[in-house]
Amino acid sequence: MAGAALAAFERIGLTHIPIGTGNSALLIRAIETLEPAAVVMTPSYAAHLAEGHDLRESSVQRVLVAGEPGGGEPAFRAKIEEAWGAKVTEAMGVGDIGPSLFGECEEQDGMHLGAHGFVHVEVIDPESGAARDLEDGAEGELVLTHLRHRAAPLLRFRTRDHVTVKTSPCPCGREGPRIRCIGRTDDMLIVRGVNVFPSAVREVVNTFAPDVSGHILVQPRSPGVKQEPPLPLSVELAPRIEPTDLLSEAIGAKLREELTIRAEIELVPFGALIRSEYKSQLVAAPPERG
Ligand SMILES: [Zn+2]
Repeated sequence: MAGAALAAFERIGLTHIPIGTGNSALLIRAIETLEPAAVVMTPSYAAHLAEGHDLRESSVQRVLVAGEPGGGEPAFRAKIEEAWGAKVTEAMGVGDIGPSLFGECEEQDGMHLGAHGFVHVEVIDPESGAARDLEDGAEGELVLTHLRHRAAPLLRFRTRDHVTVKTSPCPCGREGPRIRCIGRTDDMLIVRGVNVFPSAVREVVNTFAPDVSGHILVQPRSPGVKQEPPLPLSVELAPRIEPTDLLSEAIGAKLREELTIRAEIELVPFGALIRSEYKSQLVAAPPERG
């Protein structure tokens, strides 16, 4: 998918330096020697790179993140911006439909649809399939339809991306609703009737920065979507932070307040959770059904 976006970069006159995923040393060397103004990567990878390298003095002024939810979470975004000394904007494409369909402007307040006239956007109730009005605060699964494809157009393609809609006017002047992806319906768990997106859990946990590192892992106790509370959750601490009951209780209280779920929180030391060079895994494999 990123490959398809390269044509767009060329079209607007950018020179791109292609570095594949999985070679951080090469990427850092390219930043140091070729001094690009912008980098494009997943938000997990942007956070991961900044953990091992001081990038604040690098040439990079813009970090364009895409490929997974997270780039629009205020605390996570702030962390990446601070670590890179750069502005972070989020973009989103859907492999089956087209690359970079949505993107944020300078206002960083939700992604505008850049594919007007090419793609029709709907938001539906993922359970009933009923379409919802694209009004302020609407939430549901993103459904896309090709309007100009001549071969094998996809009609009402269910993306499995769960989005929220914002319709307030954007100071940049672009019109139409903006969206923010809050999680994948595939990752969603139902804890005693409450829909829980692991990315939303991470967003709440990240408000406890700088005490937490930004890495979490939900550890389901049983296979399947439905889980009984409390939901086991590992929260990684920032370097040199000691675990305290006060902190785990505060995180638990905030999760109850914001997401109405009860979690059993284990604070783990910095570096204990696995880093991803591509997309973060926020949910551990459940135990085998016994
Ligand atoms: Zn805008």
